Amino acid sequence: MTGPSIFTRILSGDIPGEIVRDTDRLFAIRDIAPQAPLHLLVIPKTEEYRNVAELAAGDPGLLAELVALAGELAAEHGDGDFRLVFNTGEGAGQTVFHVHAHVLAGALPEGSLGQG
Ligand code: 5GP
Repeated sequence: MTGPSIFTRILSGDIPGEIVRDTDRLFAIRDIAPQAPLHLLVIPKTEEYRNVAELAAGDPGLLAELVALAGELAAEHGDGDFRLVFNTGEGAGQTVFHVHAHVLAGALPEGSLGQG
């Protein structure tokens, strides 16, 4: 696919979406198909990195910022506990190749990792 990613298009107001945070280098939106009571996506504004491995290699500071923001949002929208998921590659369920973290929280049963 060419052109801006679906997430960039939400950020620019091109298509609707609930933006819950907008910082210098990151933004967060509510997932359109929530898989937990709280399901946010935290996304770097740059589209340079397709997945978390590329982000870690290319800008570890930005990855650390992303993790910190995920924690902040989990505390703001819930009790602060959260699960952070980066689907990496089609075989792992990645559908949007603009790196993003799923922040999942609220009633996540132990042992549910990998269910979907
Ligand atoms: P992935 O499968 O790449 O790890 O995650 C992509 C996520 O983006 C999915 O959880 C999907 O529900 C979400 N998503 C796809 N299109 C839209 C959209 O138009 N708006 C919002 N808010 N989320 C979307």
